[in-house]
Amino acid sequence: MQIRSESLRLAGKKIAFVPTMGYFHEGHLSLMREARKRADQVVTSIYVNPTQFGPKEDFSKYPRDFERDAQMAQSVGVDVIFYPSDQEMYPSGYQTYVNVEKVTQNLCGASRPGHFRGVATICCKLFNIVKPHIAIFGKKDFQQLAAMKRMVSDLNMDLEIIGMPTFREPDGLAMSSRNVYLSPEERPSALTLVKSLKLAQKLYAAGERKASKIIDEAQKLIKSAMNTEIDYIKICDASTLEDVEDIQGETVMALAVRVGKTRLIDNFTVE
Ligand code: AMP
Repeated sequence: MQIRSESLRLAGKKIAFVPTMGYFHEGHLSLMREARKRADQVVTSIYVNPTQFGPKEDFSKYPRDFERDAQMAQSVGVDVIFYPSDQEMYPSGYQTYVNVEKVTQNLCGASRPGHFRGVATICCKLFNIVKPHIAIFGKKDFQQLAAMKRMVSDLNMDLEIIGMPTFREPDGLAMSSRNVYLSPEERPSALTLVKSLKLAQKLYAAGERKASKIIDEAQKLIKSAMNTEIDYIKICDASTLEDVEDIQGETVMALAVRVGKTRLIDNFTVE
């Protein structure tokens, strides 16, 4: 991969990169389509990265289907799928990790210790291997996108990070590889994430600027559905990801909710 990328760079070609854990859906494909528009070569990676999963998380049962993914990637014009093994990424003796600090502490960072250390480490490694000019991430994973922007800036990495809007199912549910875990009975509960964000938007549009008031209403809506357990609902400054009480400037409302055994996240930003 490095040799290929280096020769593309020497030939003056622009490389766009979409890192993923596979089991593609339209959200992934929307990033690849954007990559296709912006570069000469589109590289995607499929790697379920063990270092970003906690001991009790779904690493072993995370959905995987390489053949299906390969066909979908080809259909949107991806040139290369980088598909490494654990042995290649973390050979014995491996001991170097990347820690993005403040911006990874709140939200998912608080409930998934070590998660963003794993994300930053694997993305740093993938950037060194793929040597992209641009890397495209989804805003659905808002904190991940913020951490990647921070890492690239702090470590003087020579690439641009681009964020793309969240792609949704027709009913509004944010697309996620983990949606396959949801039973039909759990679907209405899963929809409370987007419904509570819409409710928050409505309250904001009507002039509400107190974060706690908006969070209370969102909480009520989610708790009224079956089998939901709120991990967090937060309103934060969109660049530092620190909690805010008075909404002003660019702000993100982010939430994580367990529906049955499936942990779902969603967010929206206001300017
Ligand atoms: P994943 O395979 O879940 O690690 O996601 C790979 C990339 O796709 C990440 O940059 C995600 O933010 C992005 N992504 C996941 N779901 C969506 C979605 N519904 N819309 C847009 N991008 C997404």
